Parts: sequence; structure tokens; C-alpha cells
Amino acid sequence: MPKIAPPTRFPDAVALLYYRSMKRLILALKKLSLEVFDEQIKPEVKNYKKRYDDSTFIEDGPLDIIQRAIDIIKGLSLGIFTSSEVQSIANTFVNGVNVFNKNNIQKQGAIKGIDPTAYEPWLQEYMRSSVSENVSYISKLRDDYFTDIETIVMQGVKRGHSPKQIRDELIERVGLSLKRAEFIAIDQAGTILGQMTAKRHQQMGVSKFTWVTSKDERVRKTHQELDNQVFSYSDPPTVGKRKVLPGEDYRCRCVSRPVFD
Ligand SMILES: [Zn+2]
Repeated sequence: MPKIAPPTRFPDAVALLYYRSMKRLILALKKLSLEVFDEQIKPEVKNYKKRYDDSTFIEDGPLDIIQRAIDIIKGLSLGIFTSSEVQSIANTFVNGVNVFNKNNIQKQGAIKGIDPTAYEPWLQEYMRSSVSENVSYISKLRDDYFTDIETIVMQGVKRGHSPKQIRDELIERVGLSLKRAEFIAIDQAGTILGQMTAKRHQQMGVSKFTWVTSKDERVRKTHQELDNQVFSYSDPPTVGKRKVLPGEDYRCRCVSRPVFD
């Protein structure tokens, strides 16, 4: 009786942990920004708005103070997004996907009596570059946040918005960072998983795979059409403009099931 290989699984828990780690940094950044806003920026916004409403001559004094306060937030944020913290989060994530996938594929290989993960000369360099890519995604969360809060505060002040309006916009902007962090976690989990799976399947002599979607309502139509179809690792399907393995497309949660001869 032929044995059936266990399914290839998506590392949901690893992706969730990664998201939560980024969320922790983002919420610390939010707290810091609002504290500095309340203590240092708010009084200047009021000051500026009063002159704005009175149509009296507006000096740049308050704007200079506000700019300096934003620079203070940027400086303090380096204590949250420390390079060792960011590096550690990215490391834990990439290692987590690797361990998860390794256990999964070892069980599939056991069907053929093979351990495809016994010798993996490509792994170290692959992990190193994946970690550094993710470090830059996390750092970009911080950088993009600053570009935006600077615009929100400065434009808000110049347009005569109230401190509350500006504060609400700052809080709203945090939501965007959280969405972006969620995207990174799922997108990167899928991409790294898809590429590791492909390497390991081929290492155990599997040259073809079945495209398997996550079977829920979030699967996009272009991937739905690929569900249960068999492809060759040397010639994966084209989605949009590029050839993609399951998991490689933006935010894709599809996986590849090995096809044994
Ligand atoms: Zn997909």
C-alpha cells in the first residue's frame, strides 16, 4: 500500500509571531510619539493656531520648535528600533520558517526514505540574505512612519488644524504601519517557505509539484485557477508578469505538494 506524503504546511504561527514582534515596536513608537506630541508639540500647535485664527502675523518660531520635537521623537525611536532588536526579530522569524519547513519536508522525504535536509550548502547564505532583507523591511516601517508624521504635523499646523485633529491623524497613521507589518509577515513567510520547499523537494529528487491554495475566501482568482494543477520546478507558472512558486507572489499563502514519480 503506497504511503501518502504529509501535506506541505504554511507557517501561520511563525508569521503571527513575526507580526506581533513588529507590532510591539510600532506601538512603542506610537506611545513615544504621542507623549512628545502632548508635551512639546501640542502647546506650539495651539500657539500657532491662535495666531492663525486671529489672522495675526505668523512667525516661524512655533514651527521651529515643532520641527525640533519631531527630531527628538526620531532620535528616541532609535532606542526602540535598535539594530540588535531588529536583527533579532528578523533572525527569529527566518529561523522559525526554516525549522518549521525542515520538519515538514523531512516527514515528506521519509516516505521515500530520504532526508533532503541532511546536506544543505545553500542554506546559510540563503538565510543570511533573507534576514538582511527583513531587517530592511522593519527599518523601513520606522522610516516611512517618520516621513508621514512629519507631513501630518507640519501640514496640519500650517492649515490651522486643531491639536486634536492632528493627534487623531497620528493615531490613524499607526494603523497603516500595523497593516504594513501584517503584509510583510505573511508575504515573507510565504516567499521564504516557497523557496525553501522548492530547494528541498528538488534535493529529494522531486521535480514536479502540485499547487495548493489555502482554500479560503482570501485566495485570489489567479491562484484559484492554479489550484491542484501540476507544474515543474524548472518551469513554474506565470502569474501577472512573473514566474512564481507557490508562496512567492505578494501575500500568497499557497504551498507546493510534492509529486512523487
Ligand atoms: Zn496564493
